[in-house]
Formats: sequence, structure tokens, C-alpha cells
Amino acid sequence: MTFMEYKYKDIIHRCFRCGYCKFPTDWSTVTNCPSYARYRMESYSAGGRLWLIRAWLNDELQWSENLAKIVYSCVSCKNCVEKCPLSFNDDIVNMVVAAKTEMVEMGTLPKPVKTFLQNVQLIRDFRQKKSRLDGRAEDSTLQGAGVSLLRRV
Ligand code: SF4
Ligand code: SF4
Repeated sequence: MTFMEYKYKDIIHRCFRCGYCKFPTDWSTVTNCPSYARYRMESYSAGGRLWLIRAWLNDELQWSENLAKIVYSCVSCKNCVEKCPLSFNDDIVNMVVAAKTEMVEMGTLPKPVKTFLQNVQLIRDFRQKKSRLDGRAEDSTLQGAGVSLLRRV
């Protein structure tokens, strides 16, 4: 995917890294963004992550294991959505999810995420085979969780 094909190309530049998304309004702690609280580096806050994604899609930055780790360290808690004062805040997590999806499409996930998803796939396959052997309908527990994407991992 090129930057021009990125669904959020017209709004991602609007983040100006003010930093409000990583702090609560009373500035009493830095735990509003869990990944920033864990690593204490701007790259791991919502603003830093959006800038890295934009640079990556703009070919200003090459994909790397570290970039993938930073993108995937967002846990989609949406705390940043509540704190960001700009009107595009509803799409902050969507912008990160779109970057994660692109990495799935490219097969360039961080190794731990790839291993986790492959294991989910193995469990799903095992359950389906067991259901067939038992003569029951296929177990759909893991259906709908986007596991079909795992075939590309
Ligand atoms: S996401 Fe919003 S609050 Fe966070 S740095 Fe960007 S503009 Fe500021
Ligand atoms: S959704 Fe992601 S970027 Fe936003 S506060 Fe949570 S971990 Fe941080």
C-alpha cells in the first residue's frame, strides 16, 4: 500500500505531537497511554506512532522489526481518543489498526505477534479436525476474529 492508498492520508498529518493524548488532564501521571507508560519513549505514544506510520507509508522510513513492534504495542484502549483535543481523534486507533492490517497483508508482523497468530491458527485447525472426527458441526469459537487473515501470515 502506498501513502496515497492509505485510507487516512488526509488526516494523519493533523497530529502535531502536542502530547495531550499520553497524559491525563491533571498531568499527575504518564499512564494514559499504556505503551508510553511502559517504554517512556515518544515513539510509543499515539502521536509518535502516527508520525512513524506516516513516514513509513511515505517511504521516508523503511519497515523494520522495531517499527512493527512500535505499531503493535498500541493496545487499542482508546485512552488517547478521549484526551486528544482535535476533531480527528475518533480515528486515531483506526489509523493504527490500518497500519497493523497492512503489516498482516505484507506478512511483516513482529515475530511474537506472528507466532501468537500462528498458534491461534493451529488451535482453530485442530478444533475443526476434531469436530469433523467427532461428527459434529465445526467449532466456530474462533470464527469472526479475523483468523482467515492468518493464512497470509
Ligand atoms: S494524537 Fe492528538 S493529542 Fe496526541 S499528539 Fe497527536 S494531536 Fe496531540
Ligand atoms: S489506543 Fe494505543 S496509542 Fe491510544 S492510548 Fe491506547 S495504547 Fe496508547
